[in-house]
Amino acid sequence: MKNFKGVASLIVAGWLGASALPVAAVELSSANIETALQSAYSKYKVLKEGANADYIPALAKVDSNLFGIALVTVDGKVYSVGDIKSEVSIQSISKVFTMTLVMDESGVESIANNMGVDATGQVFNSIVAIEQYKGAEMNALVNPGAIAATSMVKGDNYDGIWNRILDKYSDFAGRKLTVLEDVYQSEAATNQRNRAIAALMSAYGHIKTDPVRATDIYTRQCSVGVNAKDLAQMAATLANAGKNPLSGKQVMNADNVPETLAVMATAGLYDDSGKWLYKTGLPAKSGVGGGIIAVAPGKFGIAVISPPLDAAGNSVRAQKAIADVSNALGGNPYQVSAQ
Ligand code: GLU
Repeated sequence: MKNFKGVASLIVAGWLGASALPVAAVELSSANIETALQSAYSKYKVLKEGANADYIPALAKVDSNLFGIALVTVDGKVYSVGDIKSEVSIQSISKVFTMTLVMDESGVESIANNMGVDATGQVFNSIVAIEQYKGAEMNALVNPGAIAATSMVKGDNYDGIWNRILDKYSDFAGRKLTVLEDVYQSEAATNQRNRAIAALMSAYGHIKTDPVRATDIYTRQCSVGVNAKDLAQMAATLANAGKNPLSGKQVMNADNVPETLAVMATAGLYDDSGKWLYKTGLPAKSGVGGGIIAVAPGKFGIAVISPPLDAAGNSVRAQKAIADVSNALGGNPYQVSAQ
């Protein structure tokens, strides 16, 4: 269907004497976006695969039927379907935005130099991955690298660091975000493994401040509440060279966006990052709260919230819905028309 549409668009572009017009530019109309969202929503609403994460007890209690899709274009148009009001915890999606903060504060290479920009081939909270390269040669989207990134955020004390993180996320989302306290309490009481990871990263010299404090701030950042529209706006800001398309604010250094997207493409969907990129071409990030964001650079950001996860830890419905919508809209940056 995607190919048929692409061919049809090319023919139309040819008739108009504009054969060099990219296929996607023709397809990214309001009508096509609305149709793509509605069709993915109806198709996957009935899908009942996967299960909520339960290693953080509060996540097991979230309504598994929650399902919302939002898409924000780089020119600031918002489209949505389903439940876009309910908040889930941002979880690992937060790692992207803390990473951008560190890049902006300390230089883009600070991330590559401290924890690396390579996929680990291990689960997101792997201790083996730390041991393999002594805490380097990994990335800021798995827990060891992410807690290390949080430890690099500038600030005089806990509150100073925390406020910089929350303000940054809020700028990306275009509204003041807050912490879901029950999720924070639940994870703080059960995050022994992350505390061990932070201790090991500290032992290898990748966390230079107090690792206990870094883990606690990291746990708090994972508990920030977001709805599908917040997440889509955050993704759209990345799609728009770091400028929030709705607020107009330059939220991060535009020069650091390509590196950010590269890390997302490499390691955004846990062990299935390769499969995801193969299918969609989109830099993306998932979280165990059930959200996934994906970025079609220069076009749109899309987000889906649906808590049931597959074995790799990625929302089942979110992956399918984003792949369908993006493919229908020509979102894959690797798919271009011949000149
Ligand atoms: N707060 C979660 C953890 O550290 C985030 C995991 C995730 O979303 O991948 O385990």
